[in-house]
Amino acid sequence: MTERLLEVKSISKTFELNRGPLKKKALLQAVSDISLTIYKGETFSLVGESGCGKSTTGRLLSQLITPDTGEVWLENQKLSDLNKKQLKPFNRRVQMVFQDPYASLNPRMKVMDILAEPVDVHMKLSRKEKEKMIFDILDIVGLSKLSAYKYPHQFSGGQRQRIGIARALILKPDLIIADEPVSALDVSIQSQILNLFKELQSEFQLAYLFISHDLSVVEHISDRVAVMYLGKIVEMGLKEEVFQNPKHPYTKALLSAVPVIGDRSKKRERIVLRGDLPSPVNPPSGCTFHTRCPYVMDVCKSKSPHLSEVQQKVSCHLFD
Ligand code: SF4
Repeated sequence: MTERLLEVKSISKTFELNRGPLKKKALLQAVSDISLTIYKGETFSLVGESGCGKSTTGRLLSQLITPDTGEVWLENQKLSDLNKKQLKPFNRRVQMVFQDPYASLNPRMKVMDILAEPVDVHMKLSRKEKEKMIFDILDIVGLSKLSAYKYPHQFSGGQRQRIGIARALILKPDLIIADEPVSALDVSIQSQILNLFKELQSEFQLAYLFISHDLSVVEHISDRVAVMYLGKIVEMGLKEEVFQNPKHPYTKALLSAVPVIGDRSKKRERIVLRGDLPSPVNPPSGCTFHTRCPYVMDVCKSKSPHLSEVQQKVSCHLFD
């Protein structure tokens, strides 16, 4: 895991909202000054409460939306320099799997047509070649040939997510951005889909950006983890570092809510955060976590901490 695949440098994204009956304009800072690198073949996870900017970050990395500032690089290519046509080969290399497999599959299309769509956009194949490709990919994700002739509603939730994965995989991407891919599924099905992600990774040397609010899922699947709070990364490191020795008070609080099974000596002290997640329309000054942090100091209220440059990066004045 040393070859860089996708690199993000200081990206930010703000959305304009119309609020209230008077449609007053407000700015929502969804992502603020995020930098990260995803290496070939690794699973990099983004974790945090809903509304913290994880999904927007995934969409920025996949070029579904463009950042207001900052750069996204795929190997040696700066993507913001490219026009729509030039971005086409990039779109093939970075694919997305979405949370709700039913909403993301066209209910009026048979699986054959759903899987043929990306192939038609990116490749010139005969009908026979395309069909073979579709049958092969169905087999790889654990679905029968007959599935090709059915509609999405004829499948279970887990099977529908397999179709979503097949659609992402059929173009042989280098990176799959999976946005909460198992959170709509039953727990027993979740582990099957997570195992499928792992098998596909070792077979095709895929990298994943895995977006989840579920720390147990993230611990199961990740090599490296970044914790987000109100649009910023507050801690980033190897999974073992972040899970076994969390530094940022927010990471500690998140992990303290996850039950530890087995060894009682490893049980974490429960940290209950004060108050709700502040609005990203009007984020707190200084460290945006200061309104809820059990270790808040005067400096935290006025000065924003920076992500440190050490191996396990943390954005907190306790580590200045
Ligand atoms: Fe808490 Fe201050 Fe660290 Fe923010 S900078 S997490 S408020 S101690």
